[in-house]
Amino acid sequence: MTALATCTPAVRAPTPDAAPDAAQDVAAEVPPECAALAAQALGQIAVDFYRWDGAGAARQAFDWPLDSRCGRLRTSAAWLRVEGDGASRTLVVDPSSLASGLHRAELELIDDRAGASVLARVGVRLRVLRAPRAGAARRVLVVGYDGARPDAVQAARTPILDFLLERAAFTFDARTQLAGPTVSAPGWMSTFTGVDPSRHRVVANGEYGARVAEHRTFVARAIDAGRSAVVSTSWEEVTTSIVERDLVIERQYGLDPFAARWLAGRLRASEAQLFFQHLNDPDAAGHSTGFSAANPAYIRAIESCDANLGVLVDGVLSRPTIADEDWLFVLTTDHGGSGTVHGPLDDDNRRIWFVAAGASLAREPLGEGVSHMDTAPTVLRWLGVTIEPSWGLQGVARVR
Ligand SMILES: [Zn+2]
Repeated sequence: MTALATCTPAVRAPTPDAAPDAAQDVAAEVPPECAALAAQALGQIAVDFYRWDGAGAARQAFDWPLDSRCGRLRTSAAWLRVEGDGASRTLVVDPSSLASGLHRAELELIDDRAGASVLARVGVRLRVLRAPRAGAARRVLVVGYDGARPDAVQAARTPILDFLLERAAFTFDARTQLAGPTVSAPGWMSTFTGVDPSRHRVVANGEYGARVAEHRTFVARAIDAGRSAVVSTSWEEVTTSIVERDLVIERQYGLDPFAARWLAGRLRASEAQLFFQHLNDPDAAGHSTGFSAANPAYIRAIESCDANLGVLVDGVLSRPTIADEDWLFVLTTDHGGSGTVHGPLDDDNRRIWFVAAGASLAREPLGEGVSHMDTAPTVLRWLGVTIEPSWGLQGVARVR
């Protein structure tokens, strides 16, 4: 079962004037503690659920300390219901009749004697991603976490990533490019171009003079092939130096939450095929407090990336055309780290992770030999862009 609570349930006690004056006599019969107890009980309920096609209903048991004198539970949608009676109830979230998208419903405690007033309420959100029909329009969202060690990603609480991993080719034992230091610019250049620093010649941050221009980024290759793209980053060099400046694309730069919210807006509305988001929080936390799975601040930064990933996934699921689209989600990082630095060539810095997820994919742990250089061919293959041997890509497409 995947029952995910990613934020505090929005339980609200009724406002004092919610019940009409005429109902005051009967309202007095309702035990005064009902609203508070109901809010407490409904507060146990997860409000965020994510279901892939075929995953079936999600169930969550919760305690119900109220008796029928307090009223009855009511749901606002057929996909949300409560089973059982007495002190133990089960919330059932059933996506079987729903299309891909972000669905909302409410569970309410209703007092019928007071004009059907609402004593307490919790909102439930259900995200559904169905396998699209054959030939559905392909789209891809690439999310790059800067400096996110795979052991820390696995240790962090990451409900959105966990959901994606249910339908993904993935590994937490991938490697960075192997021809340059584990620094951001060579790492992202290799992720974007699919070749290592011995070919693209970017080996340090801020130094792009030696860049070999014919090793174009997957953004440029997609544009060359007639696709369109939107790029959002929180490390400026991705926007200004790594993704080619002369490309006619939408691009944005800002801190993680701003950049993710901006891209979510474009994900909801844009007709582009390719979307990229760079998130910087893990790198910043690693440099200030340590790149370590044992460092709570570093773990929190990765969890904040997961929250931003949730914002992006909600953007995708809010598209009016989502039911007719086949989305691929690619996630990776540019390097690991140790102590408060990265750059060395050891396993702490070289070992990374790679995920390619989508409704038409199966859960498939990948073996050895996976690199962030696989991002470029994976994205281009998904978008139907012919990969020319003359490009010399060193990465491998991880989708068909
Ligand atoms: Zn970096």
